[in-house]
Amino acid sequence: MARNINQYSFVVDAMLGKIARKLRLFGFDTVYDPNIDDMDILNSLKYYGRIILTNDQALIKRCKKRGINTILLNNKTELENLVTIFRTLDIKYISLQNLFHVCTCCNGIIETIIDKNSIKNQIPDRLLHSRYIFYKCSQCNKIYWIGTHIEHIACLIRDINIKLAAVN
Ligand SMILES: [Zn+2]
Repeated sequence: MARNINQYSFVVDAMLGKIARKLRLFGFDTVYDPNIDDMDILNSLKYYGRIILTNDQALIKRCKKRGINTILLNNKTELENLVTIFRTLDIKYISLQNLFHVCTCCNGIIETIIDKNSIKNQIPDRLLHSRYIFYKCSQCNKIYWIGTHIEHIACLIRDINIKLAAVN
């Protein structure tokens, strides 16, 4: 049976912002702040229970001493780094269905907009009329819709799933 991937949450080290955005896109609760430093990660209770993702060997060692779960990301490509995360956690499959759950900008919860007229002042008219479903971040109010970039994301997810399926 497939795992519920959202059981995992992360703190992403300052160097890995693109990874953080992808994890949010895939529906994971992911803390990322470019100003975060090692001492924050090691000492802050607010990150308790989150898995630390970093390319810093020294930080990995310090986390391990304190019993904090970490995954080292030192692959050459973003795709390989993402696959490393999911393999480590025994996640076998990433689903397109988890898109539009977590805001890629702020990690807020995204909600489906019931009445699209309520956002008519926030997006261009042609967009409002050409789409049926819109989503909105409950925290930063960013509006999302299914656009052309979805094909790009679907390709990335397909590539990830092919690699995950290849491991037995
Ligand atoms: Zn947001």
